[in-house]
Amino acid sequence: MLEDKDKIFTNLDGRAAVDLASSKDRGIWHQTSRLVKRGRDSIVEEIKESGLRGRGGAGFPTGLKWSFMPRSSSLPCYLVVNADESEPGTCKDRDMIRFEPHRLLEGCLLSAVGIGAHCVYIYIRGEFVRESEVLQEAIDEAYGDGLLGKNAAGSGYDLELYLHRGAGAYICGEETALLESLEGKKGQPRLKPPFPAGLGLYGCPTTVNNVETIAVVPTILRRGASWFSSFGREGNRGTKVFSISGHVNKSCNVEETMSVPLKDLIEHSAGGVRGGWDNLLAVIPGGSSVPLLPRSLCETALMDYDSLQELDSGFGTGAVIVMDRSTDIIKAIARLSHFYKHESCGQCTPCREGTGWMWRVLERLAEGRGQTSEIDLLLQVSKQVEGHTICALGDAAAWPVQGLIRHFRSEIVSRIETRQEKESSSAVLAEEPA
Ligand code: SF4
Repeated sequence: MLEDKDKIFTNLDGRAAVDLASSKDRGIWHQTSRLVKRGRDSIVEEIKESGLRGRGGAGFPTGLKWSFMPRSSSLPCYLVVNADESEPGTCKDRDMIRFEPHRLLEGCLLSAVGIGAHCVYIYIRGEFVRESEVLQEAIDEAYGDGLLGKNAAGSGYDLELYLHRGAGAYICGEETALLESLEGKKGQPRLKPPFPAGLGLYGCPTTVNNVETIAVVPTILRRGASWFSSFGREGNRGTKVFSISGHVNKSCNVEETMSVPLKDLIEHSAGGVRGGWDNLLAVIPGGSSVPLLPRSLCETALMDYDSLQELDSGFGTGAVIVMDRSTDIIKAIARLSHFYKHESCGQCTPCREGTGWMWRVLERLAEGRGQTSEIDLLLQVSKQVEGHTICALGDAAAWPVQGLIRHFRSEIVSRIETRQEKESSSAVLAEEPA
């Protein structure tokens, strides 16, 4: 388990004050100008060597993403921080903003240097009212102290930073929908290519990164790439904040090493499964959009990209949703299907029609209404949605359904058979003479 001395987020539980003076006491904004003066190339190389991958779900290598930004451009370059955290089960960015706002702001300055941007937008989820107030207070403090604006932190680098509140659409967490929304348009994903590094915000080169990705940058630069990459396995380096929710004794956000065993994470950090490990039914390991794992696979799963991929699931946002044996697993996945149906922006036919269709079938199957042949039909439709849409919401809607059928097909079949038996015995009773 990760020792306290190696934790990046030292106030994730919100016990300490979040104002600038207290943040400085915790080492934030310490000699930031020295880090800025290392320059763009050095910062990008250090982040590449650290092995940091985007913490918003896709897991793309951060340093490599930064290196796609043009070296010389007649257009302004932008850094956009994605704080539109809306994935069910995921609540880490919210606590980072609430309890460590200055860590994020310092990360914005250093990351902006890394991509050659002099303007940063933080796009925060509309429902995060208190969080946006805390963040705005921190931004005002930073401007007041000369840490942002002209000659930011005395480094000679100019940086303007703006906070923008979204209006509560899940799809605006998709980076190109976010850019559309930031430009004042309807939040709908763009076709890619072109990618934001070439044609992003207002048609200018843009990098979009998640809150956690940006917030860990200052510590990586201070402690070095080799320190960060000493945690986790090859290709899965660093520390990570995991959100653990559902049927555990202590739901929490906790920072741990990448590749920590899933069982250890649940048992040690979240106080264990309600009713004990044997009472576990399944876990969704990476936010609601990845396939679930039944208990047998949870025994050996590691919380990283490769291990979860090998188990036909995904790391996603690293948000662990625990379900014990009291869960109606078909109903639970039907509920998630309803969420994706509701959040589909409607541009692509497979997503617009498929998400609603899958939800309606799952609702029927949850009540045992239907035929067993419909299970394969449902699987087939989910495959026609997966990979056939503009953005990843189509996949996100299809994968939980596929995970359910892969691991709980017998549960669906037995529910249909039980209902059919009940209906046929009621029919016999109705036919018998009184
Ligand atoms: Fe919109 Fe769904 Fe298509 Fe994404 S996949 S662009 S949410 S319709």
